Amino acid sequence: MAARYDAIVVGSGPNGLAAAITLARAGRSVHVIEANETVGGGCRTEELTLPGFRHDVCAAIFPLAAGSPFLRRLPLQDHGLEWLFPEVELAHPLDGGRAAALRRSLPATAQGLGGDGPAYRRLFGPLGREWERLTPDILGPVLRLPMHPLLMARFGAHAVWPASLLARRLFAGDEARALFGGMAAHSMVALERPLTASFGLVLGAAGHAVGWPVAKGGSQSVTNAMVSYLRALGTSFECGRRVEALGDLPPARAVLLDVMPGALAQLAGARLGGRERRKLERYRMGPGVFKLDYALAGPIPWQAAACRQAGTVHIGGTLEEIAAAEREVAAGRHPKRPFVLAAQPTIIDATRAPAGRHTLWAYCHVPNGSTVDMSARIEAQIERFAPGFRDLILGRSARTTVDIEAGNANLAGGDIGGGAASGLQLLFRPRVSFAPYRTAIPGVYLCSAATPPGGGAHGMCGYHAARDALRRELR
Ligand SMILES: Cc1cc2nc3c(=O)[nH]c(=O)nc-3n(C[C@H](O)[C@H](O)[C@H](O)COP(=O)(O)OP(=O)(O)OC[C@H]3O[C@@H](n4cnc5c(N)ncnc54)[C@H](O)[C@@H]3O)c2cc1C
Repeated sequence: MAARYDAIVVGSGPNGLAAAITLARAGRSVHVIEANETVGGGCRTEELTLPGFRHDVCAAIFPLAAGSPFLRRLPLQDHGLEWLFPEVELAHPLDGGRAAALRRSLPATAQGLGGDGPAYRRLFGPLGREWERLTPDILGPVLRLPMHPLLMARFGAHAVWPASLLARRLFAGDEARALFGGMAAHSMVALERPLTASFGLVLGAAGHAVGWPVAKGGSQSVTNAMVSYLRALGTSFECGRRVEALGDLPPARAVLLDVMPGALAQLAGARLGGRERRKLERYRMGPGVFKLDYALAGPIPWQAAACRQAGTVHIGGTLEEIAAAEREVAAGRHPKRPFVLAAQPTIIDATRAPAGRHTLWAYCHVPNGSTVDMSARIEAQIERFAPGFRDLILGRSARTTVDIEAGNANLAGGDIGGGAASGLQLLFRPRVSFAPYRTAIPGVYLCSAATPPGGGAHGMCGYHAARDALRRELR
């Protein structure tokens, strides 16, 4: 049958949209199909609590989008995207009213870390300065020649370490150790495991190189800008259609799937042999998250001043406490004192709440598939560093891993990272291969966060998958 489109993209998360943009910019006709009624996947904003309070359903903080070698070169500002930068990128409160603060300025950050300042500068100075050259290598497939081998070797020498060990080796004080540990805990892997330091390095370097911005109006603005650009390039969209089988798709020369490997196995049906199917089904999902969104009567009364100016706040106390919480999750248990990742976009974005009101976005890690309500434990952690927080709550939306998956099939068991980032699967996903985006079915590609470089709203998985399709099917 004659192809109706050059390419079909199934799923409109940041990776699906990035794939579509890469193809459309190369002059190919593209059609995007999305299961939900709205596009965006992990980049959507909705009134989850009360009228007038707009909450990011998934991604809220965008160091990886602002620092993405692909996204940052697109004319998204011309299509309405505006990054807003807080005074403090990330604050990490500790008992006694203390806090570590990551600021865009490396010297200012190092100064706040006292005796650990020089070690912090030695670690993050080169990475922040070299971000532009480093990211095309670290935000792409591993099995290829790096563009900057020396830089990669320097990054790799620290990145392979378990985060808790590296933090203890480099830093003596609670502040620097906790700051690094909190960033590394985005891995959702126990901090004693090798390679967890890589998350702390990438997120910290991004903080100094590009910042940890929010999108004005919410993460939906990232999606809207990408969609507006795509429409200008002639791409068509179809929402509210869950693709159940590859055979149901309109004829196209290439198909790019923004789905998890298990879903690919289902969509492919008999077109996949047993061996290929088993490989896809062996792909491991990681822990899930329990998510809370709040409508608040006022700004959060953090004890530490840095937290009051921070877009992101990591709540969990010392490195040892965070490591213990993440160990519990890795062992399939629910920590009594969870590590909470929180964002307070309304301190810089007045468009998201009625005048004088605020929102808080927060989640903690839980075992995959958990149905436990972690609200009380999360609130106790926030209250610990911001007494009086509970009195401000006007409305609350809580979602277990089951609710999260119900809103987006890619978040299976509540895993927000597109599959476990532990062991070999961090580097080689969905399997060890020189061509990780290709599937066993000719013309069909995987472009979701289950491919390199993994989770985050950077669009790099979609970009690389589309480039591969352009090289092979769509020359
Ligand atoms: C609670 C939460 C907080 C997060 N916080 C951040 C953050 O602050 N910063 C950050 O960078 N990242 C964050 N992330 C991660 C980020 O959102 C994801 O890594 C990113 O969205 C992955 O993009 P993707 O395109 O691979 O998949 P997704 O964004 O998940 O999109 C996949 C899309 O495909 C659609 N789809 C799936 N199957 C089908 C089908 N069969 N037919 C049609 N459509 C289908 C889905 O409906 C969905 O729209 C967060 C995620 C969550 C859930």
